[in-house]
Amino acid sequence: MMQIVKSVGVRKSFGAFEALRGIDLEIDCGEVLCIVGPSGSGKSTFLRCINQLEAIDAGALWVNGELVGYRRSGRKLFELSEREIARQRLATGMVFQRFNLFPHKTALENVIEGPVQVLRTERRQAEAIATELLARVGLAHKRGAYPIELSGGQQQRVAIARALAMKPALMLFDEPTSALDPELVGDVLSVMRDLARTGMTMIVVTHELGFAREVANRVLFMDHGLVVEAGSPEQVLGRPTQARTRDFISAVL
Ligand code: ADP
Ligand code: MG
Repeated sequence: MMQIVKSVGVRKSFGAFEALRGIDLEIDCGEVLCIVGPSGSGKSTFLRCINQLEAIDAGALWVNGELVGYRRSGRKLFELSEREIARQRLATGMVFQRFNLFPHKTALENVIEGPVQVLRTERRQAEAIATELLARVGLAHKRGAYPIELSGGQQQRVAIARALAMKPALMLFDEPTSALDPELVGDVLSVMRDLARTGMTMIVVTHELGFAREVANRVLFMDHGLVVEAGSPEQVLGRPTQARTRDFISAVL
């Protein structure tokens, strides 16, 4: 399968407010797409639609080859059962701005929770996989630590390991370094850079333009619920054609 996400005219409103006003986008397997744009432009909403934390109002959205969420076209309504949605959601792993680890579980227990409870992986095997993933994010020595004993950057790296433990086809990152102290940002970005090198398909909402320039195959600039500009990092960040993109980039730099 070539495409991991196909979005056609996706719309999403909250009451009278249109957060997404028709998103058309195709993302190939293996791509690293960075989404940038001002606060309130719909970036998180779009990720949440892909991960089915929100249902779309109009258009159509395919993730990992399957039609997801709701689709209203004319009088037709496409609706999935909770069970089907839960199954589809396993295709995506999401890392949020806030780490939301289980506070009463160790790093290792946080990482094995999903595989054991949801995938029914045998505990010993889940622990072996989790140990390997914690090593990959540089936290082998912290497997027994509780979230409160970890820095924000370390917690975020556990959150990345926890998402990877579910073997998702697509990883979604929603401003994963925005809540971190500046000196902790680098370690998290470096884990994400390594992940991209392994060929993982990733959508990353970020204000870290240096990361986007270096790691992304494609950069997308969103504003007011629309894709304003998309292309290679050199194009969008280096030679933007739209005034709104230029204004945003000069404001962030
Ligand atoms: P971004 O991530 O680009 O900052 P969001 O997708 O979070 O933007 O939000 C886009 C707009 O939708 C914002 O104006 C926000 O206030 C609004 N919005 C997002 N989620 C909700 C919600 N659950 N209820 C009401 N409004 C929301
Ligand atoms: Mg957001």
